[in-house]
Amino acid sequence: MTHADPARVERVRANLAAVRGRIEAACAAAGRSPEEVSLVAVTKTYPASDVRILASLGVTDVGENRDQEAAPKAAETADLGLTWHFVGQLQTNKARSVASYADVVHSVDRARLARVLGDRAAAADRRLTCLVQVNLDEDSRAGVIGPRGGVDPNDALEIAARIDEHEALTLGGVMAVAPRGGDPGAAFARLRTVADRIRDRHPLATVISAGMSADLEAAVERGATHLRLGTALLGNREPIVG
Ligand SMILES: *Cc1c(COP(=O)(O)O)cnc(C)c1O
Repeated sequence: MTHADPARVERVRANLAAVRGRIEAACAAAGRSPEEVSLVAVTKTYPASDVRILASLGVTDVGENRDQEAAPKAAETADLGLTWHFVGQLQTNKARSVASYADVVHSVDRARLARVLGDRAAAADRRLTCLVQVNLDEDSRAGVIGPRGGVDPNDALEIAARIDEHEALTLGGVMAVAPRGGDPGAAFARLRTVADRIRDRHPLATVISAGMSADLEAAVERGATHLRLGTALLGNREPIVG
């Protein structure tokens, strides 16, 4: 923290306070305790210095969606003891790298990905918590918009079983991104039914990772346990080229 820009610290502090206020209000409206809702700060496109600022303000969980960016950032901030969440689409050829620093992978949507992640984690003598990413976008499942990651809700239980059977993996629960342009409340309600079905069979799989900066209230209302927040904490991102 020796060189942290004081203006940046104050901006992030104010953003974090505003986000905590939104979470508390959403929990109050839903009759839930704020302690049931964890915040994952998504730091993609922002530098490791922002990860340090977030940590200095009490954030314990950070998320990234690209291995090329996440791996060096996790290494640069390894002294902070943070919990790292991988939230992006994941190719199996990146599984070894991701398994070396991530604690939670939110985006498991193929049996093969579960197996490779588990094998890489075992080889590194690590354990990974994995969430089944559910695709709630009927248009993209029909191929109208194109793949956005996530398994068809009807196949979620099967992927959950593949995660659960691997000795190096812990089945945490489910994750989803609300479809663009749709009603996030309806989408998160669908996710909730998938989550309940998985939890019936795997009682410890209680995580529902849903809700981003624009729709966290709808996610809290529908039972989210983990919110993945980038913009609301760190500001609008520059578009990524390539
Ligand atoms: C970028 C990202 C987020 C954070 O989105 P914001 O709108 O900036 O809060 C959450 N989840 C995933 C999968 C992301 O890629």
